[in-house]
Amino acid sequence: MQLTEPFSLEELIASEVAARKDIDNTPPDEVLANLRILAAGLEQVRAVLGKPIHVSSGYRCAELNAAIGGSKDSMHMQGPAADIICPGFGPPLEVCRAIAAAGIVTDQIIHEFGRWTHIAFPAPGKQARNAQLTIANAAKGYQPGLNPSA
Ligand SMILES: [Zn+2]
Repeated sequence: MQLTEPFSLEELIASEVAARKDIDNTPPDEVLANLRILAAGLEQVRAVLGKPIHVSSGYRCAELNAAIGGSKDSMHMQGPAADIICPGFGPPLEVCRAIAAAGIVTDQIIHEFGRWTHIAFPAPGKQARNAQLTIANAAKGYQPGLNPSA
């Protein structure tokens, strides 16, 4: 199922861990609307970055989220969040900052472990928090701002 021109449903639910552990990561109907919001949001991000985006993790059913150690209230379980990289544009911190500077309406942009950008868009009827955070390691937790994770 093609959600928007560049982003297919398959791409937004694909998971190596789910495949390896035989977890069925098929989204329920109520998540599909949020995956459309995610696809539309990622399309805006792609336009800003001007390069292909790789989605390393999109939708996660509860079982998959637990299997990978995601936080138990992770937005990945509701659909409108993804972890992305865009090597053609630059390192994750630069990607985070470019998205923030572009003024795209987001719920959260998180620079995670210096390795990827977590981006979440507001679900229907939800207020966008426009939060920008950095997590360098579990001990430090989430810190305000988009910062180097040294
Ligand atoms: Zn994430």
